[in-house]
This record gives sequence, C-alpha cells and structure tokens, in this order.
Amino acid sequence: MHYRNLLAERGIACHVRNYHSASVLGELPFLEVAPELCVLDPRDVELAQRVIATGGVPTSTVLRDWTCAGCGERLERQFTHCWRCGAEPAP
Ligand SMILES: [Zn+2]
Repeated sequence: MHYRNLLAERGIACHVRNYHSASVLGELPFLEVAPELCVLDPRDVELAQRVIATGGVPTSTVLRDWTCAGCGERLERQFTHCWRCGAEPAP
C-alpha cells in the first residue's frame, strides 16, 4: 500500500481500512481514497494529507521532527538538513 508506506516513513501511524480495495485506488480521486486510509493520531491528519498530496516527495515543509538516516541524529522539524552530517531527510 503506497500511501501507507509514505506515511509510515514519516512516523505517522495509520492503517488501511479496506486493504482489498487497493487494486482500484489508482482510479479513484484522492478524496474518495482518503477515508480508506485511517490515520490513528488526529494530530497527524494534516501532515498525512500533505504527504499524500505531494506523493511523498521530500520538501522543505516537513513538519515533524525527524531522524537522520546518515548518522541517527534526532532533528527538530525546522531543520531541512542534518546539522551533524549534512544529510537530507529520507524520502
Ligand atoms: Zn546526520
């Protein structure tokens, strides 16, 4: 499930309500697909929508704290690059 993976990579807990409908997701407008993807934490909904809307493309508007894939440093959301090793957030 593409969207679920995108969200999971950003630490957003979610599950797909009806996994067996996944085969038709590509044919449905986003707003019809969205209810099938259940974000467990209401505070993550806005970010989840942003992630899905951008197709998971990394942007400078990542709104969560993140962990550097290069060195493991925990970074606050305003950093677009790791201050320790210079890596960008993983896509
Ligand atoms: Zn780093």
